[in-house]
Amino acid sequence: MKTPIYLDYAATTPVDPAVAEVMAGHLTLDGVFGNPASRSHGFGWQAEAAVENARRQVAQLIGADPREIVWTSGATESDNLAIKGAVSANRKEGVRPHVITSVIEHKAVLDTCSWLEVQGCDVTRLTPDTTGVISSAQVEAALRPETLLVSLMLVNNELGTINDLAPIGVMLREQGVLFHVDAAQAAGKMPVDVAELGADLVALSGHKVYAPKGIGALYVRRSPDVRIDAQIHGGGHERGMRSGTLPTHQIAGMGKAFDLAGVGLEEEMARLESLRGRFLDGIEPLPGVRLHGHRDRRVPGILNLGFEGVEAESLMLGLRELAVSSGSACASATMEPSYVLTGIGLSDGEAHAGLRFSMGRFTTAEEVDYALEQINTVVSRLRERRRASA
Ligand SMILES: *Cc1c(COP(=O)(O)O)cnc(C)c1O
Repeated sequence: MKTPIYLDYAATTPVDPAVAEVMAGHLTLDGVFGNPASRSHGFGWQAEAAVENARRQVAQLIGADPREIVWTSGATESDNLAIKGAVSANRKEGVRPHVITSVIEHKAVLDTCSWLEVQGCDVTRLTPDTTGVISSAQVEAALRPETLLVSLMLVNNELGTINDLAPIGVMLREQGVLFHVDAAQAAGKMPVDVAELGADLVALSGHKVYAPKGIGALYVRRSPDVRIDAQIHGGGHERGMRSGTLPTHQIAGMGKAFDLAGVGLEEEMARLESLRGRFLDGIEPLPGVRLHGHRDRRVPGILNLGFEGVEAESLMLGLRELAVSSGSACASATMEPSYVLTGIGLSDGEAHAGLRFSMGRFTTAEEVDYALEQINTVVSRLRERRRASA
């Protein structure tokens, strides 16, 4: 077993070797390196075929039509394109558009909404319950005649909590309000079906699913047609929604990664569920540990734990052999508590004690056991030190 141990799969995943192999076949002269937009020769046609194959693979994982997939540079860009693009294309003359989101969304959604606010949009930010769930009744109560779009995540990246979006999707469809779903943490970790969600726009990221960083996609529903305005202009690629030469190697990699994720989904979910059980069983003897997020409605790979009387920052420093995350945006010197943890009602102190362990495809039982040993030792040591100094 190699240390340090990577337990930050929710931040990013390593590229699967099979994905790297496909990518390598799309880079050099002897591979499919052409520009997919080149219509005058075979190099271009081959690249286009690779891109369209990947489009099918990504569409298949979320139950979409390949023509509904728009390539982007990642979920951040997809969120920007979905929210700004939908507001821009659907706002009515003289009406101040209204957007609904939640306080625990990814920054790609929150910062985009804040920017829209500056541009003359109204934004409502809903507060979830203590497990991280937003209810359909909450969304419905926040609707206004001017509401144009609702943006909610399917799986929260810090908690792993799964939102029950299907009833919200049905309700919004009836009300004629667009529904954008950030599914970056859901795709490849649980079954995702765009029709079931009732989603109009869905953001996806490659690097959370064993594809490389710098590639993502936006699902844009075709029937009935969802209109969005491009945010990057140029050659009119991706049916005018996102210009720029398509990165064939990145796209082929994301296609392969999404294909792999779909093939092994049930088995991998069961394996991670069992590792999660092993983790929780091993942490149980330690007193004062709190599990954040929803007990049952959650993806198996993410565990957010609070250790009473222990600061996550000191714990992380002690856990040098484990790569984990406090979920807090440590902006320069000021250590802010996680806005997701305070967003579900934890005090600043409790939020400071939260640590995210996220497991993935290459996590083993041996690694979990080693992590448990480390956590038990370091938490006990920190608590003793605290008692001694008290
Ligand atoms: C990682 C992540 C993003 C950003 O994706 P990038 O591809 O890194 O831009 C957006 N939303 C959620 C929920 C994420 O986990």
